[in-house]
Amino acid sequence: AEEALKGGAPPFELPEIRFTKLFINGSFVDAVSGRTFETRDPRTGDVIATVAEGDKEDVDLAVKAARDAFDHGEWPRMSGSERGRIMTRFADLVEQHGGELAALESLDAGKHPGVTRAVDIGNAAGSLRYFAGAADKIHGETLKMGRQLQGYTLREPLGVAGLIIPWNFPTTMFGIKVAPALAAGCTVVLKPAEQTPLSALYLADLAKQAGVPDGVINVVPGFGPTAGAAIASHMNVDMVSFTGSTEVGRLIMEASARSNLKPVFLELGGKSPLIIFDDADLDMAVELAVSANFFNKGEACVAASRVYVQESIYDRFEKKLAERMKSWVVGDPLNDPRVDQGPQVDKAQYERVLSYIDRGKREGGTLLTGGRPCGQKGYYIEPTVFTNVKEDMIIAKEEIFGPVMCLMKFETVEEAIARANATPYGLGAGVVTRDLDVANQVVRSVRAGVVWVNCYFAISSDCPFGGRKMSGFGKDEGMHALDKFLAVKSVVTPLRGSPW
Ligand code: ADP
Repeated sequence: AEEALKGGAPPFELPEIRFTKLFINGSFVDAVSGRTFETRDPRTGDVIATVAEGDKEDVDLAVKAARDAFDHGEWPRMSGSERGRIMTRFADLVEQHGGELAALESLDAGKHPGVTRAVDIGNAAGSLRYFAGAADKIHGETLKMGRQLQGYTLREPLGVAGLIIPWNFPTTMFGIKVAPALAAGCTVVLKPAEQTPLSALYLADLAKQAGVPDGVINVVPGFGPTAGAAIASHMNVDMVSFTGSTEVGRLIMEASARSNLKPVFLELGGKSPLIIFDDADLDMAVELAVSANFFNKGEACVAASRVYVQESIYDRFEKKLAERMKSWVVGDPLNDPRVDQGPQVDKAQYERVLSYIDRGKREGGTLLTGGRPCGQKGYYIEPTVFTNVKEDMIIAKEEIFGPVMCLMKFETVEEAIARANATPYGLGAGVVTRDLDVANQVVRSVRAGVVWVNCYFAISSDCPFGGRKMSGFGKDEGMHALDKFLAVKSVVTPLRGSPW
């Protein structure tokens, strides 16, 4: 699976960087303040591009463009099938430019370009196609209210959607947030993460080429406390869909509560468990634990950073895992065809992950593999597996968002379930077993938004994704995602002979 995910082989041609300004009302423009910020190549720490830095004034302009496009423009008024046709063209363009876009994204985020092409480009185009197909299937209900009244419901686009996305899967995030918004007939103001602003600008240009009218998609790169906060607290933004940390999710809800009470949907952090039972195929279980932790350098909200292995196979599992990690290659994903894992996205994340590793050592965790930075330059970290991990250690409780696995032992199904649930998070969970009863028991008992049985990270445009508890609420992907962008309006009419 890892091989298949890698797609093409490096070295990849470095893309030309064409879009570095804000995209507002169909044009690329400088920030009102004239300010810019640098985005860096995590392989070296060198500056790749200087990007216009959006702030409150720019968000105001973007919201105004989105508001006008919603209140007076054709997008929410055209038929769903027309919107769907344009979205399909957009999906075609994303695929046609997939190589260049994947290279751009990899350069900005330190990702593997083959994986980016297969996963992110595939997800973005897939989401656009899925929701293109949904755009003309947005129906209300008819209501038989009684003898004197009858009613029906309309499902209407909510208005201007604020979309705030993170840096780990920027193109995927753009696709899964923008596609249902467009299908619903909303207009959007999107803020990419400050670490990875380039792909969203590139995608905005493709949307324009596909025929998405001006003002329907606006992209404002900038920082969280300025541009992001301006979106979350804007009186003219009708909803916010956010993916990022639990900490910032809280701020987004507060901003909504203090401004116009816009609905917010939050896809936040996790500390997802992967439970491996003693009847599992051991090779497969090791592979799953590895990819569930080290895929995308561990920069995944749904990474299975707590791996529970049943006691009777624990020693064998640990040995096999240590053996497997010997052939795991960390390095420059744009130049070396053997590389499994690139650099962390930026210096701050790199230092954060290293400080968690340090903490784990001080708390008494034992290093099975890794534990150190690597490479002469850039933000590379060895894939790290801690054993002797106790549930109350910080590394077992907090989201690290890097290549760090905590390996733990359990005895019974009940114990595994209790420990899996003993976290404030509830994003993903995995179970590896051949016993259907055991799998079903875990599936029913674990409090998570998605449970993977004998697989992990398996996602698809039609499969709802999103957590519970402090991992947030609301779904990306699947038809549930469309509901976030629609308002239900009830319409009531009297029947002949009623006193109305
Ligand atoms: P991470 O910890 O993964 O970097 P964050 O939650 O900090 O995740 O960032 C996710 C997104 O939220 C980014 O686009 C970031 O700029 C934005 N963001 C950060 N702080 C705020 C804030 N106070 N209000 C709105 N958006 C924010």
